[in-house]
Amino acid sequence: MTLFDSPSFEDHEGVHAFFDEKTGLKTIIAVHSTARGPASGGCRMWDYASSEAALDDVLRLSRAMSFKNAMADIPLGGGKSVIIGNARTDKTPELFEAYGRAVETLGGKYWAAEDVGVSPIDLAHARKTTRYVAGLEGAASSSGDPSPVTAEGIFRGIGLTVQRALGRDLKGVTVAIQGVGHVGAYLAEKLHAAGARLIIADVNQQALDEVAMSTGARIVSTDEIFATDAEVFAPCALGGAINPLTLSRLKAKVVAGGANNQLAGPAMGVALFERGIAYAPDYVINGGGIINVAAEIQALAQGGAYDAAWVETKLARLMVTLGEVLDTSFAEQRPPHEVADEMAKARIDAAKV
Ligand code: NAD
Repeated sequence: MTLFDSPSFEDHEGVHAFFDEKTGLKTIIAVHSTARGPASGGCRMWDYASSEAALDDVLRLSRAMSFKNAMADIPLGGGKSVIIGNARTDKTPELFEAYGRAVETLGGKYWAAEDVGVSPIDLAHARKTTRYVAGLEGAASSSGDPSPVTAEGIFRGIGLTVQRALGRDLKGVTVAIQGVGHVGAYLAEKLHAAGARLIIADVNQQALDEVAMSTGARIVSTDEIFATDAEVFAPCALGGAINPLTLSRLKAKVVAGGANNQLAGPAMGVALFERGIAYAPDYVINGGGIINVAAEIQALAQGGAYDAAWVETKLARLMVTLGEVLDTSFAEQRPPHEVADEMAKARIDAAKV
């Protein structure tokens, strides 16, 4: 397979592969679109089975970032990078310094941040050799852990989707949260404070106990969570929560949560719609995290400090966008994920000169 024949290639502006002899770094940086601003998206370190798999991943993920950033209405395009290697055994400071040099060669077309397998410490090493890294700790520009902002967006998004679909507020509504990690735990607190009833599942017993203790949530198994009597199902763990096996068991009337790639495929979005289940498209409702990172990139690029008021303005705007997606879906009787994709594409096209 060559780059341009790849099914995941979709008008990417640039795809850059780098090899560093001294450290063995193999990285691919994909710049999908800079129409709305410099491409931004995390750096993922993963032990890919082949370079073809790494290329496929970076192409898909960078395009997804263009869409997410456009829906979050932040002045950033979409990009992503992957480092081929084992995050547990292959990491060295020198590897990330070499990665930083690779990012620097793009002259600011791409801003890196954290993703799976990459920590703020790794990024601090990359920062020695490039300016174009966000997600560092301890500076005036630092945006810190994005999870609380992500959870706030999801909390508001669940409220909005419940209002549209069920015509009520969150008081007394039961929400089943799959995964009470960083995002899920913050979300549980907020929902509890709003009077919602909670059902939770996780593979981490300690995380479950902590959330149950502070919110009174009922704990169920990771299998049962799909089939509870909750009105809302909130996927906050891994991707693919909505797949043919889980869909047939789902009793919820609303699917709205923080996980990326909740639909195992676009057909699942159509199936949700046909079953009358309101779905808040994942990359729209979970855009709070990237808004938070964008505030840091803005501060670094312009030499200022992290601006919490700007983040709040963008978060409020994100909810207006989510409302538009749900309203259009209802008015035109089309699945919301299709409406969201169309809106994102239109926003990117409108920014092209
Ligand atoms: P996390 O790793 O802190 O939490 C994930 C939780 O899911 C963990 O507690 C884990 O034990 C649990 N889990 C794993 N497998 C499970 C299973 N089969 N059933 C139930 N629980 C399971 O990650 P996070 O930062 O909270 O992110 C959660 C999701 O939200 C991810 O999909 C992530 O990509 C997405 N997301 C996160 C942010 C953010 O700001 N952190 C932003 C946007 C999207």
